[in-house]
Amino acid sequence: MRPARALIDLQALRHNYQLAREASGARALAVIKADAYGHGAVRCAQALQRDADGFAVACIEEALQLREAGIGGPILLLEGFFEADELPLIEQHELWCVVHSPWQLDAIERSAVRRPLTVWLKMDSGMHRVGLHPTAYQAAYQRLLASGRVANITLMSHFARADELDCPRSEEQLAMFQHASQGIAAPVSVRNSPAVLGWPQLELKEQPSDWVRPGIMLYGATPFDQAQAMAARLQPVMTLESKIISVRELPAGEPVGYGARFVSERPTRVGVVAMGYADGYPRHAPTGTPVAVDGQLTWLIGRVSMDMLTVDLTDLPHTGLGSRVELWGKQVLASDVAQQADTIPYQLFCNLKRVPLLYLGG
Ligand SMILES: *Cc1c(COP(=O)(O)O)cnc(C)c1O
Repeated sequence: MRPARALIDLQALRHNYQLAREASGARALAVIKADAYGHGAVRCAQALQRDADGFAVACIEEALQLREAGIGGPILLLEGFFEADELPLIEQHELWCVVHSPWQLDAIERSAVRRPLTVWLKMDSGMHRVGLHPTAYQAAYQRLLASGRVANITLMSHFARADELDCPRSEEQLAMFQHASQGIAAPVSVRNSPAVLGWPQLELKEQPSDWVRPGIMLYGATPFDQAQAMAARLQPVMTLESKIISVRELPAGEPVGYGARFVSERPTRVGVVAMGYADGYPRHAPTGTPVAVDGQLTWLIGRVSMDMLTVDLTDLPHTGLGSRVELWGKQVLASDVAQQADTIPYQLFCNLKRVPLLYLGG
């Protein structure tokens, strides 16, 4: 059997969830959209079900998959409904629903729902992607109240630059949000992972009834590209691993792999690993990207191919055929691999495919 696989540490997932709660003092919706960032939404939801105040997904398809697997409790649709005819299903499955656009307000007013909905009313406080304009926010809130179709409303917005720790934009967005929602007494939700971890100084004292929306931090990866104290307490959940399936001894001056992107500068022992871009390992990871072989750090050499990649074993004489290789996990952080490959850990996790997921600590 091909040795490539991803181990998912559910104990670490629960630890990270508790950290989100502790760091914020608020309720936490575990964001498990996109198949829990590649970690398997159903298994992650099951592992968190006892602790979690609720879950958030991108769309009704993802929510129904969770309900079919027996996941109860709140599930928020982060973009609400895409078409008005989703509303009966939202009602039937008791899903929570973001409202970010005027057409969604119209649809709710016109709908025939009998059980009142739980709505998260989203303001565009400066990200300029989705959300109601600040000047239209109070009126939208009043329309929802008057519609008779809505029982609970949470006030929501989203940060564009919370991962930049020295950038004033999050404070500006928060000020806009607070100004435009002034006088409305309702629970609030603005923080994503970087804001939970990195912005305790924001002029927002979450009440126990408010909500945070941790995503990437649940999976143990830092959203920051620099060291950060709270992020250092996260535990990586996914370990992407495989084995050395072939070893080559090359003299100096020999090329390795497609395009001869690496040429040995010294006599080099090359290990071939059963892992490639078809598994989601980034093809753009350059020579020098860290990997661990039998617990010892070394680096990628040459181009990543579809099913295999090559690593330098020259300085690791006790490694060889069958040695275990960690591509990312507790020793090699996904965020470090991402930085080398000019991407973010979010994308590394979401791109995972073909490798079987093995769950530990369920
Ligand atoms: C995905 C998402 C989150 C989670 O973001 P992280 O950076 O992964 O914590 C929070 N809120 C909204 C609206 C999202 O779409």
